[in-house]
Amino acid sequence: MKILNFGSLNIDWVYNVDHFVKPGETLSALSVDRFCGGKGLNQSVALSKAGASVFHGGGIGSDGRFLRERLLESKVDVTYVKEFDVPTGNAFIQVDKTGQNCIVLFGGANQEITREYAKEVIKNFQEGDILVLQNEISALNDIVELAYENGLQIVLNPSPMNEKILELDLNKITYFMMNEIEGEAITGSSEPDIILDKMIEKYPESKVVLTLGDKGARYAEGSKRIACGSYEVKAVDTTSAGDTFTGYFIAALAENMEIQKAMDRASKAAALAVSVKGASNSIPLPEEVDACRL
Ligand code: ADP
Repeated sequence: MKILNFGSLNIDWVYNVDHFVKPGETLSALSVDRFCGGKGLNQSVALSKAGASVFHGGGIGSDGRFLRERLLESKVDVTYVKEFDVPTGNAFIQVDKTGQNCIVLFGGANQEITREYAKEVIKNFQEGDILVLQNEISALNDIVELAYENGLQIVLNPSPMNEKILELDLNKITYFMMNEIEGEAITGSSEPDIILDKMIEKYPESKVVLTLGDKGARYAEGSKRIACGSYEVKAVDTTSAGDTFTGYFIAALAENMEIQKAMDRASKAAALAVSVKGASNSIPLPEEVDACRL
């Protein structure tokens, strides 16, 4: 079983500033850092760290070749990362003294994905293989349609949530992996049990994984419901909690692990990630998850 993650690749520019820049103001930043980012890249790294063998599909410009290197270092297959003649997707992030941030995002090469390119990539995958998607690239509707025709299992993390998600043919999604905010946007309810019931009512063929931060996670499939608690840790940085959970859960699915076990393992790995500062570097390796007694 192969895993294809078709998703965004971004350059994150993080500027530490005294305060957010005001209209007409020229503000000197206190420092600047460049990071590899994009929900797609983070989830490919998470999948690979969780032990899955993963192919990344996506687009960069010539200024983003180091993102391909980062994926390679993480043992992600980059055969389907295409270079376009446009800038790489990037995020301009101001972080103020209180730790708050504001972000300007430019889609760049992430928005160059076309039906034709999606077709070229997806033809290399077959029935039963897993496709992972988030909401930061173009042609999502085409990708879902082509993958469904080929019999792939489609995992959708509807993030960042916006109207583009609601325009997709969500009946074709095999697994929704979402948090409470995304669940509320799709169902109109903020109560976990109701979110699950409404999701199953709307999309009866789909399975739903709902993550609830330090309250754990829930799973729904038809009339079946599975709950999983969270592991108690000192939360230092929750940046990569969702990506770690997604990576470990899908890696477990690819190994045919039963759902309760897969959720428990994903929850333990996510708790470990939360207890360490950092983004993809805080995602634990399988041996660290095995060795840890929480
Ligand atoms: P997202 O980051 O996408 O909003 P969540 O906040 O729901 O996702 O977190 C995903 C998973 O990470 C949770 O289901 C849980 O297993 C784990 N997790 C998140 N926050 C904590 C925490 N404070 N303590 C322990 N586990 C956590």
